[in-house]
Amino acid sequence: MTVIEPGCTLGILGGGQLGRMLALEAKRMGYRVITLDPELDAPCGQVADAQIVARYDDQEAVAQLGDRSDVLTYEFENVPAASVQWLEAEGRRVHPSSAVLTITQNRWREKMFVANLGIGVPRFRAIASVEDGEQAAREIGFPALLKLISGGYDGKGQALVRTPAEAREALCRWGISEDVSAEPRAIWEQWVPFVKEVSMIGVRDERGTVLTYPLVENTHVDNILDTSIVPARVAPEVEEEAQRIVRAIGEHLGIVGVYCVEMFLLEDGRLLVNEIAPRPHNSGHYTLDACVVSQFENHVRAICGLPIAPPQLRSAAIMVNVLGDGSGHRLIGVERILEDPRVRLHLYGKRDARRKRKMGHVTILVEDVSEALALAHRVRQHLRWG
Ligand code: AMP
Repeated sequence: MTVIEPGCTLGILGGGQLGRMLALEAKRMGYRVITLDPELDAPCGQVADAQIVARYDDQEAVAQLGDRSDVLTYEFENVPAASVQWLEAEGRRVHPSSAVLTITQNRWREKMFVANLGIGVPRFRAIASVEDGEQAAREIGFPALLKLISGGYDGKGQALVRTPAEAREALCRWGISEDVSAEPRAIWEQWVPFVKEVSMIGVRDERGTVLTYPLVENTHVDNILDTSIVPARVAPEVEEEAQRIVRAIGEHLGIVGVYCVEMFLLEDGRLLVNEIAPRPHNSGHYTLDACVVSQFENHVRAICGLPIAPPQLRSAAIMVNVLGDGSGHRLIGVERILEDPRVRLHLYGKRDARRKRKMGHVTILVEDVSEALALAHRVRQHLRWG
């Protein structure tokens, strides 16, 4: 295993906020960074040494990114697996591999993969036709979540259905025909009455060492992450079980780099896996301020063949996402929230504060998580767009 030393170039497919925070950590460590993103002046492009402005499936541009990089990674999981495969076929070092992406880009394969490890997932069934939907309604029942197998994120490509009519309507909207020989395009998933949504960041290096960050407790609004609290307020056995799950997933995926496992905690203490993200994750942003080594630094270390660092929590924290709301592009109230020395602001350099667009986040370092929600509420009261 060769080490990609500081001074070498990291290529990032995708130029969003995850790429930006990754680039900032990589730059601090002395790496050069180049990103590929179709949008000019992308959040990562603003802080990288260079940006190639092109589509993710532009083979020539992807090849150019490969030529100019010593190691490559991606910052969102919907980059075409084919682009990662081209890079691999050209002998480029890409982490995580396209094999990982092929599983995690496809909800059906991902759920089968997790279930085959003996890890709990909500009951599910692949849907290729309206007939399959009827069968799933009989087997799994309502309420259910219908999810497109590929392309969805943050609740996009998802429908909560309570009746056969609603299910039919959702399947027709997605053009799922009556042709039973078609490839499954959606899954029917049992709606789970969870008590908490939690997630855990893992990092695995090329030698196979897996380290896990503390369990995080997440709340979502309109399917988008709203706040993350760490450490999660759960029994020690739940934290241990989550570590076991995250470790098993990392080992069997053979992933190199940082990944996140989102889970539902049930009333009886069981954990069911919802999703795997093969990259740094929104619920791990707190690690920039509250851990000795952030998820982004550990990703850089893992993909460059450097030792990964045990995730040490320096402080409890709450992370609050700052979303656009369509009412203006200037964030008002920054000076008020920064009066509190426990508050750290991260903005992603996006100009257009469209509704629900992730514009930044705030991390509040707290003595005790019991004070976290009140502090987060205060931050929210002061911040607005105008
Ligand atoms: P996803 O895109 O799969 O992460 O789903 C977005 C959000 O929808 C999750 O964070 C949950 O709040 C909710 N959700 C997804 N799947 C289920 C489920 N099976 N039961 C209940 N809620 C769910």
